[in-house]
Amino acid sequence: MIDPFGRAISYLRISVTDRCDFRCVYCMAENMTFLPKRDLLTLEELDRLATTFVDKGVRKLRLTGGEPLVRRNIMHLVRSLSRHLQTGALDDLTITTNGSQLERFAAELADCGVKRINVSLDTLDADKFKAITRWGDFSKVMAGIRAAQAAGIRIKLNAVALKGFNDAEIPAMLEWAHGEGMDLTLIETMPLGEIEGDRTDQYLPLSAVRAKLAERFTLTDIPYKTGGPARYVEVVETGGRLGFITPLTHNFCESCNRVRLTCTGTLYMCLGQEDAADLRGPLRASEGNELLSNAIDAAIGRKPKGHDFIIDRETRKPAVSRHMSVTGG
Ligand code: SAM
Repeated sequence: MIDPFGRAISYLRISVTDRCDFRCVYCMAENMTFLPKRDLLTLEELDRLATTFVDKGVRKLRLTGGEPLVRRNIMHLVRSLSRHLQTGALDDLTITTNGSQLERFAAELADCGVKRINVSLDTLDADKFKAITRWGDFSKVMAGIRAAQAAGIRIKLNAVALKGFNDAEIPAMLEWAHGEGMDLTLIETMPLGEIEGDRTDQYLPLSAVRAKLAERFTLTDIPYKTGGPARYVEVVETGGRLGFITPLTHNFCESCNRVRLTCTGTLYMCLGQEDAADLRGPLRASEGNELLSNAIDAAIGRKPKGHDFIIDRETRKPAVSRHMSVTGG
C-alpha cells in the first residue's frame, strides 16, 4: 500500500473500544458519551479487517483504545492475531495501555508473542496520578508494569508533557524508567476533541523540555526507530533512550507509515484530519475480501500529506472534533 506521497503504509493501529477506565483530563471530558455496544465491530470482524491489512502489507499492528484491555474477551483477538507472527506475515503485535488491567493479562500477552508494549504514565506521584487520570489507581499500574516485566515484555513509557503538572518531574521519571530498563517517550499534547480545560494552559513544547534536560544530561541523537513517530536520543548518564513525539513543534508527517481503524470500522488516514473511510460497509457486504480490499486501496489513495495542529489562545477549537480515544493515538 503506497499513498499519493510515496509513503508505504505498513503500520495499522486499531482502537478496539472507545471506552476507558480512566478519564485523563487532557484526553476526555469526565462525562463522556461512549458508543452503544451494538455499534462495535465484533472481535471476529476486527480480526478479518486486521488480517486484510496484513495481507496487503501491514507489518505492525497495535491495539489501542480507549483502553484496549477493558474490551471484553480482548485476549481472544490478541491470540487470534498472533497467528500472523507465527507465519512471519507480521513483525510486531503490540498494545498501548494505561496499565490498569496489565497485571491480569501480562503473562498471556507474552504467551501470544507480544514482545514490547507502551504504557502511558504521566507522573510517578500517586496523588498527581489520581488528579490527572481522575479515576486511575497508581498502585495498580505499578503492579501491571511489574507483571509485564516479570513476563519478559519490554516496556516503553509514554508521558504527555504538561505545563505546570509534570515538567519538573521529567528528570526523575527519566532516571526511574531507565533504571528499570524502560525507554521513556515524551508527547506533546494535541488539540483533539473538546475537554473541560484550556489546552493553551497545558501545552508544553518539547523543544523547551529538551533544552532544559540538556542542561543536566548529555543527549545524543540516535537513528533508533520503532516504526512510530518518535525521534530518539540516548541519555549518556543513564544509558537509556528518550523519545520525543512532537506533532506541534516538529511535524513528523513526512515519514508517516500509519493508518488508524476505529472499533466501528472507520479508517482514519491521518490522526489530525477529519477525512475517513467506512470499512464496515464493505466488510459486511460480502464474505469475500475483494470489496474491502478495494475500499482500503481507495482510502490509502487519499491519505493526506499531514496535519496542522495549532494550540494558541486565538484558536479555540480543536483541530479535529473527535477525542484521542476514538483512534487511540
Ligand atoms: N488507554 C490507552 C493508554 O492510556 O495508553 C490507549 C489509548 S490513549 C488515548 C493513547 C495515548 O494517547 C496515551 O498515552 C495518552 O496519554 C495519549 N493522549 C490522549 N489524549 C492526548 C492528547 N490530546 N494529546 C496527546 N496525547 C494524548
